[in-house]
Amino acid sequence: MTDEKNGKIEDVIIVGGGPAGYTAALYAARAELNPLLIEGFQWGGQLQNTTDVENYPGYPEGVMGPEMMQQFRAQAERFGTRFVTDDATELELTDGGIQTVKVGKEAYLAKAVILAMGAEPKRLGIPGEMELSGRGVSTCGVCDGAFFKGADVAVLGGGDSAMEDSIFVSKFAEKLTIVHRRHEFRASKIMEDRARGRANIEVLTPYVPLEFVTGDDGKIAKIRLKHADTGEERELEVGGAFVAIGHQPRSELVKDQVDVDESGYVVTDEPSTRTDLAGVLAVGDLVDHTYRQAVTAAGSGTKGALDAEWYLRDTPPSPEEHWAQDPGAIVEAVEAAGS
Ligand code: NAP
Repeated sequence: MTDEKNGKIEDVIIVGGGPAGYTAALYAARAELNPLLIEGFQWGGQLQNTTDVENYPGYPEGVMGPEMMQQFRAQAERFGTRFVTDDATELELTDGGIQTVKVGKEAYLAKAVILAMGAEPKRLGIPGEMELSGRGVSTCGVCDGAFFKGADVAVLGGGDSAMEDSIFVSKFAEKLTIVHRRHEFRASKIMEDRARGRANIEVLTPYVPLEFVTGDDGKIAKIRLKHADTGEERELEVGGAFVAIGHQPRSELVKDQVDVDESGYVVTDEPSTRTDLAGVLAVGDLVDHTYRQAVTAAGSGTKGALDAEWYLRDTPPSPEEHWAQDPGAIVEAVEAAGS
């Protein structure tokens, strides 16, 4: 039975099962807000697709991404978080009223909602990209760079992310080639200069990636490239490739309801997690296009839970008003309570 039918209004619903969402749930649960977490069918977020995580404090030996997310989830559960392991399909957000999160036909209501849907790396959409993901093709230089000690690698992209990944990964790689589709870089001058200044970084432009080619060992062996002007094709032998062409926030369900920036990231009243709608908080990679680390997302989730707690303490919405605006729903609620 849906919340809408049984008239139940949660204190807080969290949407998104990554480091930000689970941490928000942990804090909200410990604040006795009895949170409901819509964690997604493929819960765990981007870390679910990562192997070793060596940069999360508290794991000196490193930890596998999925295992870490299992532990985040277990910790949130230990304090009473309830989970819906399915994708939110629609959100109806209000300014200071009751918030609705729909999962298919089910509708869940809450006084506050914490948006933690995260972001996803953009993909090139070329052959071999998905098949070789985790077998030489990565979308996170900072996460995976250290696994490419002594290898010849390529970074694909021409923005600040590509420069940052290149600078980081070049500490481990023997040789690193930045492949960009135009002559001019989109990256800031300072980042471009830093990347170009490293002895083992070469730049190859203007080349468009066509295909990641698998070697006999089942890992990436080379990248097929095409010259953007002449059409000439060539191959680049590599032991690793980092796709660094940007991220996109997973804000499609809310972008027409809350303030988002030109790239679709939800705008918050920093340093808080408040959006332009009272009772709607946003955390993690959904708002952050700069840091994007599991640990910064977790910290942001903490802030979201505290902001929700303070909102519910100081200016809680009135469920009575909500039902008064929707008399049909209250009849259903009374009937449901009596059945
Ligand atoms: P971005 O600025 O959008 O750059 C994306 C790059 O990927 C562009 O060079 C683009 O080429 C290229 N690209 C996009 N789609 C492609 C495709 N299908 N095939 C080949 N190349 C493709 O994204 P970003 O680098 O992730 O940066 C996002 C924001 O975060 C920026 O505001 C950036 O300044 C910031 N950031 C800052 C830092 C830092 O300061 N340390 C680090 C990372 C990110 P074109 O140039 O031809 O469009």
